[in-house]
Amino acid sequence: MVNLVLLGPPGVGKGTYAKELSRRLGIPHISTGDIFREEVKKGTPLGLKVKEYLDRGVLVPDSIVNEVVKQRLSMDDCRRGFILDGYPRTLNQAKALDSMVRIDAALYFTAPKEVIIERVSGRRICPKCGAIYHVKNIPPKKPGICDICGSKLIQREDDKPEVVERRLRVYEETMRPVIEYYRSKGLLIEVDASEPVVERIVLKAIEELKRRNIIS
Ligand SMILES: [Zn+2]
Repeated sequence: MVNLVLLGPPGVGKGTYAKELSRRLGIPHISTGDIFREEVKKGTPLGLKVKEYLDRGVLVPDSIVNEVVKQRLSMDDCRRGFILDGYPRTLNQAKALDSMVRIDAALYFTAPKEVIIERVSGRRICPKCGAIYHVKNIPPKKPGICDICGSKLIQREDDKPEVVERRLRVYEETMRPVIEYYRSKGLLIEVDASEPVVERIVLKAIEELKRRNIIS
């Protein structure tokens, strides 16, 4: 059984590592962002409340987020452990989480700012079919044109270098207390995610978990 928290700036690829870790360790990937999006889509009472905050452009209050996480972690599939992604985002949430379960490690995926900016700002998406490309890593056969449906590819506003840089700064400022919290408890494991191969990054994280006897 292993209870993990995943940390990492926007664009580092945290969601991808989470999925791969989930597959390899056989424990669920729990993304609070996914839970909220799903509830909003289904129009549940929780979803309506969450939508209200999102529409106003403010953070969903800790009390709601904590409750959602608590309920999710009490489900059967978490008995052998879990991978939390997108939570905790504040020191208060980190402390609330400690009152729910024992956390074994916080994996902190990092990469130099330049690497993240290049990775994200090279991304191109197809507005019609949703296919995702990267000008260097996954180029379309014809530059700027979707392989699947032939539409003109676009760059999302969020993927523009100046926006990425600003989001990195905000992450660094808001998450510092959470990262220091796990560091002070000896639970922080920094994983260098600057190389492009997902598998190797995830294996590095798993090796470190084994070395510390967190998993066998
Ligand atoms: Zn397309």
